[in-house]
Amino acid sequence: MFVTRMNIQENVSLEPYNTFHIDATAKEFVEINSLRDLQQLLKNPEYMAKPTLILGGGSNVLFTKDFEGLVLKINIAGITILREDEAHAWVKAGAGVNWHQFVLHCIRLGYGGIENLSLIPGTVGAAPLQNIGAYGVEIKDTFDSLEAVDRRSGEVKTFYHQDCQFGYRESIFKNELKDQYVITSVTFRLHKKPIINTTYGAIEETLAQMRSHNGSPAVPGIQEVSQAVIQIRQSKLPDPQVIGNAGSFFKNPVISAEKYEQLRQTYEAMPVYQLPGHLVKVPAGWLIEQAGWKGKRIGKVGVHDKQALVLVNHGGGKGEEIKALAYQIKEDVYQKFGIEIMPEVNII
Ligand SMILES: Cc1cc2nc3c(=O)[nH]c(=O)nc-3n(C[C@H](O)[C@H](O)[C@H](O)COP(=O)(O)OP(=O)(O)OC[C@H]3O[C@@H](n4cnc5c(N)ncnc54)[C@H](O)[C@@H]3O)c2cc1C
Repeated sequence: MFVTRMNIQENVSLEPYNTFHIDATAKEFVEINSLRDLQQLLKNPEYMAKPTLILGGGSNVLFTKDFEGLVLKINIAGITILREDEAHAWVKAGAGVNWHQFVLHCIRLGYGGIENLSLIPGTVGAAPLQNIGAYGVEIKDTFDSLEAVDRRSGEVKTFYHQDCQFGYRESIFKNELKDQYVITSVTFRLHKKPIINTTYGAIEETLAQMRSHNGSPAVPGIQEVSQAVIQIRQSKLPDPQVIGNAGSFFKNPVISAEKYEQLRQTYEAMPVYQLPGHLVKVPAGWLIEQAGWKGKRIGKVGVHDKQALVLVNHGGGKGEEIKALAYQIKEDVYQKFGIEIMPEVNII
């Protein structure tokens, strides 16, 4: 397909394109189905003058107003096994491939390493942006490389692991190179002899239940781990098809061990994960719950009743309302604990 004026639609509602279901309007909207489409568009001098927004599955964005520019919805498809050796397979996926479908595809092939990341919404192309993670695994653990197009020159560049500066929900693409590249494909180095990781959360417990209920194998494989993760997620997180949300709204803050010791005098039950370098990570959901926000509703928006880290749109809520709610929560948590919590969601 060749992107011409014809393919650019005007005044498009973004409601079906974001999991918060915010009804913002894009002045212009175009679907990008190939690298060629993208390069063609970037070459167009008209494009250079416009504000643009790259959109995958819209599961990590909050629209607070209409977008007065061009939205590029990335649909680049395709999954290819690039090469294999005895231990690994290098699998490349187009940026528009649905992340969960990619995980399931790799599991069917018997390739492990991303099964703990089952059921995370969104696209493959957005996954490196915040180094998606869940249940003790992050994509940086199996990431090999990605291809991205420079938004100014249209040139394709390959980024390897060391180039991406992955951290907790961070990468170079959220910081130094923010808004400079469009990721078009990602390659993962997956394990042909998977080493399963069941230590985190309720995975072990859920696997045991699965064994007693439907006779799952005594030694679980990647398929069973994936099923367990799906089951846990479905029981804990609201389905965006049913109630608008973008998963965790805030990142878990990291504080010094000294600050934690001080807080522990007052809040004995405060849960933490120890990190290297005398640091601890505090679950933001716990802080929000302690600040009294769990399950609260303000008009059409609110805080989920099972998971305080998730802000929700009960229907017809505005992005500005969710942003204002997030600000109030952030303020209250700071007043109570002296800890600053930062949004994980990209506020637009
Ligand atoms: C119910 C629910 C549960 C979730 N659970 C988790 C979880 O467990 N762990 C986790 O890490 N995340 C989680 N998320 C957040 C979200 O799923 C991930 O951040 C996901 O990677 C976002 O993908 P997306 O395609 O929807 O990105 P979008 O929301 O479309 O975009 C997110 C950001 O990436 C940019 N972007 C998108 N595609 C590209 C591209 N091809 N090139 C360059 N920039 C791009 C956008 O401009 C935007 O800034 C959850 C979300 C929901 C709704």
